[in-house]
Amino acid sequence: MHESALITTVVLGITLAFAFGLAAQRLKIPPIAGYLLAGVAVGPFTPGFVADQALAAQLADIGVILLMFGVGLQFSFEELVSLRTIAVPGALLEMAIVGSMGTALGLTLGWPIGGAIVFGLSFSVASTVVLLRALQDRRLMDTDRGRIAVGWLIVEDLLMALTLVFMPAIATLSEATSAGSIGVLVGLTLAKVVAFGALMLIVGRRVIPMLLHYVAHTGSRELFRLAVLAIALGVAFGAAWLFGVSFALGAFFAGMVLSESQLSQQAAQESLPLRDAFAVLFFVSVGMLFNPAVIVGAPLAIAAAVAIVLLGKSAVAFGLLRLLRQPTETALTMGASLSQIGEFSFILIGLALTLGIVKQDARDLVVATSIICILINPIIFNAAEVLARRLRGRVPEPTPGTVQAAIAQPLVPTSLTAHVVVVGYGRVGGTIGESLKRRPFLVIEDRDEPAARAKRDGAEVIIGNAADPAVLKAANLAGARTLLITIPQAFEAGQILEQARAQNPLLKILARAHSDAEVDYLTKLGATRTVMGEREIARVMTADLVQQERS
Ligand code: AMP
Repeated sequence: MHESALITTVVLGITLAFAFGLAAQRLKIPPIAGYLLAGVAVGPFTPGFVADQALAAQLADIGVILLMFGVGLQFSFEELVSLRTIAVPGALLEMAIVGSMGTALGLTLGWPIGGAIVFGLSFSVASTVVLLRALQDRRLMDTDRGRIAVGWLIVEDLLMALTLVFMPAIATLSEATSAGSIGVLVGLTLAKVVAFGALMLIVGRRVIPMLLHYVAHTGSRELFRLAVLAIALGVAFGAAWLFGVSFALGAFFAGMVLSESQLSQQAAQESLPLRDAFAVLFFVSVGMLFNPAVIVGAPLAIAAAVAIVLLGKSAVAFGLLRLLRQPTETALTMGASLSQIGEFSFILIGLALTLGIVKQDARDLVVATSIICILINPIIFNAAEVLARRLRGRVPEPTPGTVQAAIAQPLVPTSLTAHVVVVGYGRVGGTIGESLKRRPFLVIEDRDEPAARAKRDGAEVIIGNAADPAVLKAANLAGARTLLITIPQAFEAGQILEQARAQNPLLKILARAHSDAEVDYLTKLGATRTVMGEREIARVMTADLVQQERS
C-alpha cells in the first residue's frame, strides 16, 4: 500500500474535503471550514485512518504557490493607488493594532517576544478566500464596499508576502551577535528580493507575454494551459532556488507580471481550477496538523484569540473606517469581512514553526481560532447587514470622501406599470436600452458599471441578481408589459423565466440563447420568443454577402 501513498492522500483529501465542504455549504458555513475539518478527520490526532502528513504538506506547498500566484494575478497597482487614502492606511493601522493585541496574548502565554510577534501577525491578516466568497455571495464584489475590501486585502497580502521573505533572515538574527552582521543579513535578503523583483519586472514582463503569445500561435489550448502553469510553478521554483526568496513570493511576482496585460490575465485565469483543487489540499493538510486536544487544554487562550479576531479585528476596522470618513454601512461590512483568519495565518505560523520561532502549541492555537472564526463569520456578516439596515437613515453619515456610499440599497418595489423590464445591461441590454429611452423601462443588473449606464439612459435600476425572487418581485412583473432577458447564461435565464411566468402568465418574454438546446430549453419554460445570437449574426452576415455579390 505504501507505493500508493500519494494517490491515497490525494484521493482521500479531495473526496473527504468535498463531502465535508458540501455539508458546510448546506449549513451555510464557508466550505473552507469543511476542508479543515476533513483534514482533522484524517489527521493523526483523531481515530481512524491517518493520511501521510509529509506528502500532504508537499501537496499543500503547491497549493500555496498557486494561491499566491492568484493573489499576484489580482494585484493591481492602479487599484491600490486609487484606494491609497482608505485601504492603505486602514489596512496598515489595523494590522499594527491587531498584531499588537495578538503579540500581547503571546507574551501573556509566556512565549518569547519573536514568537509572540509572529503569532500576533498571524491574527492581523484575513483570509482572501473566505472574504471573496462572502462578498460574492452578497453581490458586493462590484460595489465600492467590495473594492475597499479587496484593496485592503491586497495591502495585507503584500505585507505578509514581505514578512514571509524576511522571516528567515530575522530568525537567524538571534544567532547573529554584532549589529554589523544583522545589517549584512537583512541587506542581503533585501538585495536578493530587489534583484529578483527587477529581473521579473524588466525581463519577465517582456519574455512571459511573448512566450504566451508564441504558444497561442501553436493553436493548442492544452499547451497554452500548460504554459501558464509552467510559468507559475517555474518562476516560483526558480526564485526560491536562485535567489533564496520564498516559493510564495516567486509565485506572487509571476502572477503580478501576468496581471499587467488583460490578455495575459485572461490566460492566467486558466490556472484557477487547478489552484482551487490544490488550495483545498492545502486546507486539508492544515487540518491534519491540528490537535483538537488544544481546545480542552487551553480553552482560555482560545477564547482570548477568538475574541481578538471576532471582536478586536472588526471593532478596529469599523473604528478606522469611520475615522476615515466612510459611511457606517461600509465600516460594518468591512468589520464583518475581516473578522476571520485563514490561509496566510497558516502559512506564516507554519514557516515560523519550521524556523523554530514558535512551538507546535502556537500553530494549534491559530488553527483552532481560524476554524472557530470561519464557522462564526457568516453569522457576524448577517448581523452586520441587519444592523446596517437598522441604522440606515438614523445615523448622520459623514460626507462621502473619494469613495461614494455603497450602492447596494434595500429593495424598493417599483411603482412603474405597463413598463418594459430589461434583465442585464451589457452588450445586448445596453444596446436595447438606447432605443428605449422614451419609454418607462426598468433594468435589473448585478454589476455597478452597467447599472450606472442604465441610470444615465433614463432607466429605473434595481441592482441585484435577477434570479433572486425578491429582486424579481421588486420589478413588478405582474404589472409589466414586456420582459427582455438579455443575459448570456441560459440556466440562470431559465430560472428568471420560470418565476416571471408564474407571476404573470400574459407577460411577453423575449430571451437570449446561444444554441439550439438553449432555444428549446427557454421556449419550453415559457419564453414568447427566444433569439439565438449566433443565428442572427449568421443571418446578417449572409445578407451582407448576398448584397455584396449582387452589387
Ligand atoms: P452582455 O453579455 O454583454 O450582454 O452582458 C450581460 C449583462 O448581464 C452583464 O452586464 C451582466 O452583469 C448582467 N447579468 C448577468 N447575469 C445577471 C443576473 N442574473 N442578474 C442581473 N444581471 C445579470
